[in-house]
Amino acid sequence: MAETLIRGGLVVTMDSSLGDLAQGDVLVRDGQIAAVGRQFSAPGATVIDAHDMIVAPGLVNAHMHTWQTGLRGVAANWTILEYFKKMHAGLATLFTPEDIRIATLVGALNQINCGTTTLADWCHNNPTPAHTDAGIDGLAESQIRAVFFHGSPKPDPKPGQKPFWEVPHPRSEVERLLKTRFGSRDQLLTLGLAILGPHYSTYEVAVDDFKLAREFGLIASMHCAGAAARVPDGWDRLGEAGLLGDNNNIVHGNDLTDQQLKFMLDRGVSFSLTPETEMFQGHGFAITGRLRDLGAQPSLGVDLESCVSGDMFTVARMALASQKAFDNARSKQRDGKLPDTGTITAREALSWITVEGARMLKMQDRIGSLTPGKQADLILVRATDLNMQPLHDPAAALVTQAGLANVDSVMIAGEFRKRHGRMLFTDLASRQQQLVTSGLRIMRELETRLQATAH
Ligand SMILES: [Zn+2]
Repeated sequence: MAETLIRGGLVVTMDSSLGDLAQGDVLVRDGQIAAVGRQFSAPGATVIDAHDMIVAPGLVNAHMHTWQTGLRGVAANWTILEYFKKMHAGLATLFTPEDIRIATLVGALNQINCGTTTLADWCHNNPTPAHTDAGIDGLAESQIRAVFFHGSPKPDPKPGQKPFWEVPHPRSEVERLLKTRFGSRDQLLTLGLAILGPHYSTYEVAVDDFKLAREFGLIASMHCAGAAARVPDGWDRLGEAGLLGDNNNIVHGNDLTDQQLKFMLDRGVSFSLTPETEMFQGHGFAITGRLRDLGAQPSLGVDLESCVSGDMFTVARMALASQKAFDNARSKQRDGKLPDTGTITAREALSWITVEGARMLKMQDRIGSLTPGKQADLILVRATDLNMQPLHDPAAALVTQAGLANVDSVMIAGEFRKRHGRMLFTDLASRQQQLVTSGLRIMRELETRLQATAH
């Protein structure tokens, strides 16, 4: 029985009945949280001194296209319409399976480095099963906990071929993946479906895909933003057909009406927002506040490292700041003054990247808080660093002060993957070099292709 005792930390459990514990202990046994309390005696346990640390649940990144890691920063100046053209119809088509594997591996490792212990990897550049397998291999090698959302690419239609929006999600691939790659729910890796949904497919394809996900008991996640929806009344029709349910996840959702949001929330649909890329690319304002007004909470994601950084602390801070800016402006306009106090607390923002991420993945019984019986996914954040002292409010410190430089240790399923500020993955340098080679080759190939078309 392997036991680890994380001793004397400032424990932010994010469990409403346990709260925060000064000088708290977390006992980890066989990959799970065995107990949270004070001054445990655990003879034989490996003791981790956490006196200078905030101990918090591992972060959950609820939406990221990890395959774009080798293209960091290339989309920084693009609108979403440029992004579709240049990324999906351009760069994406130049990826080999090996490019997907190395990008997913290094992207997932960086997530761990930043304090993320669970990643919703939304892989939609997989024109062949080999690309799909490569993405899964990259996640597996990183040892992150992840849901691999199996998607489909969005190239420009070619003569004689059906455009992507008329192609249903491939049932045979889902069956193959479940049979060969995703056995039990206890594994670190599980499967979800990254479907087109009515914003990006015909209604008939959306119906097929919703039914497929439901048949296999999988979460079906879909984008809803960008250019006009392909089927503007698709959500209402799917709802009326009884197909919207708590296995559906919508990413962004900026242009949905309040009525549509309520209709979906009433049916258990979850929402994952990526406020930073939404502001960068032109999706519109994140719907954080509109969800809150309807009694719901979002989960958050990085979305694109081709556009923004992979650090979930930054994502939470962006989400909090942008919504408070909106709330403050609304209050001034409506009431002629600021609200009496801030409209959203930092602790609530912390819930978006912990418990709400777990809920989106339907893993709230396993991850998201430091609760006995859950998986031992946690982070140790140095509270004595130059940017962290003095520590008055640990949740506020995590959301408003902390960044990846403060992430001292990261544990996933009871195993440290980062310790004393260093990733424990062996051979990191060679993997980084492979990523660089891959990213440079893809950019060079695009250049060659553009030159060939120009002549
Ligand atoms: Zn996305």
